[in-house]
Amino acid sequence: MNIILMGPPGAGKGTQAAKLVSEYGLAHISTGDIFRKALKEQTKYGVIAKYFIQFGYLVPDDYTIGMVREYLREHEFPNGFILDGFPRTIIQARELESIGKEFGFKIDAVLNLDVDLDILATRLSGRRTCRNCGATYHIEFNPPKTQDVCDKCGGELYQRADESEEAVKVRLETYNKQTRPLVDYYTMTGDITNINGDQSMEDVFSDIKARLEAM
Ligand code: ADP
Ligand code: ADP
Ligand code: ZN
Repeated sequence: MNIILMGPPGAGKGTQAAKLVSEYGLAHISTGDIFRKALKEQTKYGVIAKYFIQFGYLVPDDYTIGMVREYLREHEFPNGFILDGFPRTIIQARELESIGKEFGFKIDAVLNLDVDLDILATRLSGRRTCRNCGATYHIEFNPPKTQDVCDKCGGELYQRADESEEAVKVRLETYNKQTRPLVDYYTMTGDITNINGDQSMEDVFSDIKARLEAM
């Protein structure tokens, strides 16, 4: 089973992806996580991505697509995968269709987490991310057992550099301009399910499961 998980920054894509990984053994492919790892390791993609990410812009399509191709070539997905944060533009979505043909996979479901924009700022400003394993927490809605320490691996929790008020504003604008049209694109091609993301994490997950189990 291969799934695309869409939604604005802070909608809960990473949170739900982690639940899907434990429930169905899917691989979690987050382009944001891959970029952040590349940035830390200062690889070719990391150096290019740094500028765009810190200000809240999208990394240009050709680099992003190049990186996704490389990632797919280098990994195996015996139970399928969840794409989290990719595609984010119509060009990326079209390219994913060719990549699927080339690699021999198809997308079984496109899920869109629907959350009001005014809730997102609170979710993003309270988000804390594990430096070691990438797990995410929320200081209010999903706090770790010990402050600033990851429950899963003991790693240090930090606030992402693109989570400043200014970068968040740009990211939300970027979403509206470049990614929201993709929701219309998938709606037109008849292949998207809207999930109400403005519920508890558990309720969002049961809606997702209900959708997947109806396939
Ligand atoms: P969020 O979880 O807040 O939606 P991500 O972790 O997915 O954010 O992405 C962080 C940043 O990485 C984005 O703001 C963007 O700069 C870059 N990025 C991630 N995925 C893509 C993509 N598919 N296309 C272009 N840029 C991307
Ligand atoms: P995304 O990957 O879409 O950017 P995350 O999964 O990282 O979003 O969630 C953003 C923040 O909101 C995190 O701090 C997370 O703990 C919190 N969060 C996620 N889902 C919910 C929810 N249903 N209710 C409240 N907070 C949530
Ligand atoms: Zn961790």
